[in-house]
Amino acid sequence: MADIPIPEIVSEINNKHQFPEFKGKVIKRNDVDYDAQSYQYASSSHLEDGIIQPAAIIKAADDSDVIKAIKYASENKIAVAVRTGGHQYSGASSTSGKNIQLDLSQTYKDFDWDDENCTSVTLGISFPLGEFNAKLREKNRFVPHGQCQYVNLGGHIQTGGYGQLARSFGLFSDNVIKFRIITADGQVRWVAQGEDLFFAVLGGSPGNFGVLTHATLHVFRDQDYPNSRGLRAAYPYDRQRLKDLLDVMVEMVEDENFPADYDYCITVLSEPPVRTFELTYDMAHRKEGQQMVAWPPMIVVFAQWANLQGEKQTYNPDFFNKIKQVAGKGKVQVSDKEHTPMSTLTGHWIVPISREFELPYIKRTYSSNSNSQRLKEHKWTDWISDRIEDGRNWNYDKTSGPIDVGCNVAAQIQHFGGNNSRFNQNGKRNSTSFSWRDANILCTVDAFYHSYQYEQTIEWQKKNDEGVGKPEAAFCEHDRRVLWGSYDLDLSASHQYYYDQNPEGKYERLCKIKQKYDPSGVFTPNRFCIGLPVPVPADSKDGIKKRIKLSGSETAKERAAAIELAKVPQLSAEDRFWEMVSTERELGKTVPLWNIWRA
Ligand SMILES: Cc1cc2nc3c(=O)[nH]c(=O)nc-3n(C[C@H](O)[C@H](O)[C@H](O)COP(=O)(O)OP(=O)(O)OC[C@H]3O[C@@H](n4cnc5c(N)ncnc54)[C@H](O)[C@@H]3O)c2cc1C
Repeated sequence: MADIPIPEIVSEINNKHQFPEFKGKVIKRNDVDYDAQSYQYASSSHLEDGIIQPAAIIKAADDSDVIKAIKYASENKIAVAVRTGGHQYSGASSTSGKNIQLDLSQTYKDFDWDDENCTSVTLGISFPLGEFNAKLREKNRFVPHGQCQYVNLGGHIQTGGYGQLARSFGLFSDNVIKFRIITADGQVRWVAQGEDLFFAVLGGSPGNFGVLTHATLHVFRDQDYPNSRGLRAAYPYDRQRLKDLLDVMVEMVEDENFPADYDYCITVLSEPPVRTFELTYDMAHRKEGQQMVAWPPMIVVFAQWANLQGEKQTYNPDFFNKIKQVAGKGKVQVSDKEHTPMSTLTGHWIVPISREFELPYIKRTYSSNSNSQRLKEHKWTDWISDRIEDGRNWNYDKTSGPIDVGCNVAAQIQHFGGNNSRFNQNGKRNSTSFSWRDANILCTVDAFYHSYQYEQTIEWQKKNDEGVGKPEAAFCEHDRRVLWGSYDLDLSASHQYYYDQNPEGKYERLCKIKQKYDPSGVFTPNRFCIGLPVPVPADSKDGIKKRIKLSGSETAKERAAAIELAKVPQLSAEDRFWEMVSTERELGKTVPLWNIWRA
C-alpha cells in the first residue's frame, strides 16, 4: 500500500490563497481567546507535545463552511482535524503547524423523529451524551451509550459507545442505521450498512475518513422492558471491598451463559484535587464561577437488569443482593427494589462531569478475553486491587520520610462478555470495524498526577502494563487496546494493539478505504492517522526529561506543599467518604458528586 502523505508542518497559515471568509467564527493562533478555544480534554497532558495548536479553529456554521474548509485545505496542501466534543484522549481531534481544526460543537443540532412511533431518529452529531439521552427520555426511548455527559456524538459514533448497556443492548454504534458524511472531495454522502465507508467510519479510526454531520439511529422503547431494574451505589473506597466486588464479576464471567439482561460495572475514584497548592494547566483555564465537583475516595457500582423478555419475565434479585452483600454499607442512589424505566436508568449511568481530575493524566484501557479460570489462576482480582491501592499510596520522599500522597486514580472495570452478550453477538456481524468484540472484561486505570509525581506515575503505569501481553500476565496474555480509550499518540506504530484480524486483514482494508476516500490526506493531520509509515521510536527518556523541565520551579513548591500536607493527620478513606456524603450543597462551594448526579 502506498503511504498516505503527511501534511507539511510549518508555522503560519499559507498565504498562497486568501484565507476564505466563513459564516462561523474563526480563531487564529495569537488571537486573544485562542488558548481557551483550542483547549480540549487532552490539553492537560499533551499541550507540550505540540499537537494541540491548530493554525486556525473554524467554528463551522453549516455544510458550506465545512466544504469551504476542506477545499481550502486541499488547495493549500494542508489538513483538517475534526473536533466535536474534544474528548479524544490522545489529542487526535486537534492539530498543529499550518493545519486547521473544524470545530463542530454547535454546528449540527437538528433532531427529528423518523416516524410517529419514535423507533428511529435522525439527528446532528453536535449533541453531548447528556443532552442526547434527555431528548430520547422525553419519549421514553433509549439507546446504549458511554458514561461521560460531555462526550459528543461526533466522535462517540466512531469509537463505539462502550457503556453500561453493552451486554444487554450492544454498542451505541451497533444501532446506527446510516450516517451523513462530507468526504475529502467535498461530496455529501449518506452511507448505509454494507458500504465500505460504513465499515471504516464505525470503528476504523475517528476523523480519518470525512466529516460526519448526521446519523439515523435505531432506538429502543421503555415499554418493551416493563420490569427493568438498576442499582447505583457509592461505597467508601477500601481495597478489600474492591476485591470482593471484582470477585463477583469473575463469578459472572464464569457462567458463560449468564443472561444478557445483566450489566455490571465498577468505578474507583480516588482523591479530588482540592488542595491549595493545586496549580495546573487546567486550573489556569478554569472559568470564574465554574463549579468544582468533589468526591472522597470511593467505589461506584452500576448494575442493571434489562428485562429483555418483557412482561412475562420476573426479576430475580439474587445477583444484585450478592453485590450489596459484599459491598456493605454505602449510599444507594438508585435501588433495584422498584422498577426504573430503561430510559431513566441510562440517564443514571452518565457521570455529570467533563473530566475526572483537573490534572494531566497517563491513560490505560486494557481489554481481556481471559476466561474466569485463567483470571482465578493468575489471581487477577488481587493483582488489580493491589495496583489501584498502590497508585494511591506512594511512599516516595527520601529526605522527608514516608508521605502518603499517591496520584489520583480513576479506574473502571466492566464485564462485556459471555455467549448471550449483545456486545459479543453484534460483533460477529462484522458490519463495523470495532475490534476485540470477544472481550470479557475491559479495565481502565488512569492516573492523574502533579508534575512532581510524573516519574512515579510512569513507573506505576509500567507495572500495570505487566498485567497484559505475556503468557504469565494476570489480566490477559495479549495486549489489546481500544480506540475509545487510546493512549498512544502514534496509531501506525501501535496498530497491532488496536485492530484484531476479524475479518482478516482489517487494518490493511481500512488503509485502502482511507486511500480511496482521502487520497491526499486532508483528514487527521497528526500521528493518530491510519496508514502512516511507522516512525523510528522516539527516545522516551527525553520525553520524561522534557516534561520535568517544563514543570520548572512549581515542582519544588508542590513537592514541599505535599510534604506539609502529609504531616497533617489524615482521615481514613471511610471517614472521608461519610464526611462528604453528609455535606450539604452550598452556593459557590465545591459540590459533592452525588448532589448533581441524577437522570
Ligand atoms: C472523561 C471521558 C469519559 C469517556 N467515557 C467513555 C465511555 O464511557 N464509553 C466510550 O465508549 N467512550 C468514552 N470516552 C471516549 C469518547 O467516547 C471518545 O473519545 C469519543 O470519540 C469522543 O468524541 P468527542 O466528539 O467528544 O471528541 P473529539 O475529540 O471531538 O473527537 C473524537 C475523535 O472523533 C473525531 N471526530 C469528532 N467529531 C467528528 C466528526 N463530526 N466527523 C469526523 N470525525 C469526528 C475526532 O477527529 C477525534 O479523532 C470517554 C472519554 C473521556 C474523555
